[in-house]
Amino acid sequence: MLNMTSDLTDSEIDPEMSPGLFQGDMALTNDLYNYWRVGIKWDAFPEKLWKNGIVPYSISPLYEPSDQVTILKAIKTLNFMTCIKFVPWNGKSKDYLLIWPIKYPRGCWSFVGRFGGSQIVSLQPPDKNGPNCLGTEGRAMHELMHALGVFHEQSRWDRDKFVKIHEENIIPRFRSNFDKQSLDNTTYGFEYDYDSIMHYGKTFFSKSKSKPTITTKMNHSKKIGQRKALSKGDCLKLNDLYGCLDNVPMKRKYYNICNFMGI
Ligand SMILES: [Zn+2]
Repeated sequence: MLNMTSDLTDSEIDPEMSPGLFQGDMALTNDLYNYWRVGIKWDAFPEKLWKNGIVPYSISPLYEPSDQVTILKAIKTLNFMTCIKFVPWNGKSKDYLLIWPIKYPRGCWSFVGRFGGSQIVSLQPPDKNGPNCLGTEGRAMHELMHALGVFHEQSRWDRDKFVKIHEENIIPRFRSNFDKQSLDNTTYGFEYDYDSIMHYGKTFFSKSKSKPTITTKMNHSKKIGQRKALSKGDCLKLNDLYGCLDNVPMKRKYYNICNFMGI
């Protein structure tokens, strides 16, 4: 049985671990799984990004007010730190995010990029025996970043220079969660980021919480797997993906915001 605490660390549970989902928390259909297994080529599939950076959303009325506040904090933070605009769904636009405490599969999960139509982002509220995706706005931001098109940091093609994957400690059926992307799928011109909100924690998908599945190579005491806030790198990556750095005034604005607010 999973044990909940209000202050999740990487040595505790993995709320992003839902059986049957790609890398634990990304929903992909079978066809797309093979196609996109290790990352989407944004150059080839620009239509998977949200058009003009506008992301209509609808939040389930099933959430308690306090959980709605957590989700809204995540959305407002992303709106402030990037030129992406999450806007309440007007009931008309075809594509939108439906943020819902879905029962099957439970947990915190999302599609990657814009899928078309109403698209679930599953954020499980706290309960006695399930994962809590709403302890802080960080986990909500992690799933929303998937929905915007961002994969896990440790799936980068160059990750082996920065982290060691301990295959022997991974629960066998989750080994593919640690696959990496090919070189031509990696389009971000930013350094590998241990601080990323998209990085796995040290014992994610481990057979035992005393056995790490992923450790850092460059800086051995560095913590990974934070779910508190966007890192500077996460912030820049999102802004880059959505063209927010394309002209000088905007570039200056968002570099300042990312450097100031990013951890
Ligand atoms: Zn994830």
